[in-house]
Amino acid sequence: MNCSARIDSKLKRTAFPLFFLFSLLLLPNVASAETKPNIIVVYADDLGYGDLACFGHPTIKTPHLDQMAAEGMKFTQFYSAAPVCTPSRAALLTGRYPIRSGMCSDKRRVLFPNSGGGLPSSEITLAEALKETGYQTACVGKWHLGHLPEFLPTSHGFDSYYGIPYSNDMDRVAERKLGRKIFLDPKVKYWNVPLMRDTKVIERPADQTTITKRYTEAAVKFIQKNQKQPFYLYLAHSMPHVPLFRSKEFVDKSLRGLYGDVIEEIDWSVGQILQELKSLGLDQNTIVWFSSDNGPWLIFDQHGGSAGLLREGKGSTWEGGMREPTLAWWPGHIPSGSVSQELGSTMDIFTTSIKLAGGNVPADRVVDGVDLTSVLMDTGKGLRDEMVYYRGTKLMAFRKGPWKAHFITKPAYGKEPFQEHDPPVLYHLEHDPSEKHDVAKDHPEVIKELLAAAKKHQQTVKPVPSQLEIPLAK
Ligand code: MG
Repeated sequence: MNCSARIDSKLKRTAFPLFFLFSLLLLPNVASAETKPNIIVVYADDLGYGDLACFGHPTIKTPHLDQMAAEGMKFTQFYSAAPVCTPSRAALLTGRYPIRSGMCSDKRRVLFPNSGGGLPSSEITLAEALKETGYQTACVGKWHLGHLPEFLPTSHGFDSYYGIPYSNDMDRVAERKLGRKIFLDPKVKYWNVPLMRDTKVIERPADQTTITKRYTEAAVKFIQKNQKQPFYLYLAHSMPHVPLFRSKEFVDKSLRGLYGDVIEEIDWSVGQILQELKSLGLDQNTIVWFSSDNGPWLIFDQHGGSAGLLREGKGSTWEGGMREPTLAWWPGHIPSGSVSQELGSTMDIFTTSIKLAGGNVPADRVVDGVDLTSVLMDTGKGLRDEMVYYRGTKLMAFRKGPWKAHFITKPAYGKEPFQEHDPPVLYHLEHDPSEKHDVAKDHPEVIKELLAAAKKHQQTVKPVPSQLEIPLAK
């Protein structure tokens, strides 16, 4: 090689990486300020897998959610990370199984008004992760991750909060002798539940008859106010958790009775939000999720919902306790009318949202959520192949692919003891979604694989103190 050829080749070697770097700088950033999608998560409370018309309910009308499904994606195998409120919500907001944050317990299943604990400040919520990339954030609705000031949404990355800090059946003041009758004909005065704005109580007892309507108004106002910048709205309805309330426009509207009225008002609420996004021209730049924190509260008879063909409900690690009716909507991005049978979890909303926003998924801790973007865009297979079913701190069951092994079972409520299974009970959930036919004896190799996978998961769990066992300081 002569001298000029050597210089030429050296120039090429230097120039090419420079050109490449320069081109990269010129390329539009996938999550630039203009393209960062707004993120809305609508979370119902105790809604069952079978409670929406688009999930097969025969007498509850949900035209707006059906429309959302028709314009977006319906998930048939999507899970919350716990069968009750507090741990499920902790997982949704942190992308981590609640056992990692201490937001579960075997003594108290959720937080109560006499609890002194809450979501630790060391946890990174989706609101905090999105704020870092320039999002405006709001939490509207039920919180249930600690009602003391240091645990409220405004201490966890939300710019504002409007809602009830725990369940709508807490702070009960009704006479004891009324027993469960208070749920059959619920009155606002039976519960002294506070309604809060940021860190202040603004109404007590909260008028629950208008709570769904007022949450919706607050959500729409937030969208309007932030239409010119990326925003994250977490709208966690207090309903259909008992006691059931709905505004006067929905009284006796549904063939399904009071429970149906309540769901139809939530459906109206979703319609208001989607309509607002369309009117403001934000629909192509906003991803909206709809899901629930846990399954239906079956012990409340007709005041509880339905898990459809799934077994059991809220409080249990059978499918009805944790598989949720989930929808994702993002016109122009998510193929309309699509149905995904991929596994998904509310924890994945954490990771997917951060990725879409161009932010950083925390690298200093275990994050259990996976990025569902390829599923949403229908560009590839899902990244989730496993689901762990916890009740408090107990690992009750484990799913891998279509197989689910129950190591321990127990009905959702009641005094029946925990029943350990050796060998585990095994179901093929795609053949047998109702978990009726134990096929353990035919598949010892599957059991071996699931036991090993569960053990591998457990090795990633470090014990932390439970936040749910901390009493309120006197
Ligand atoms: Mg719940």
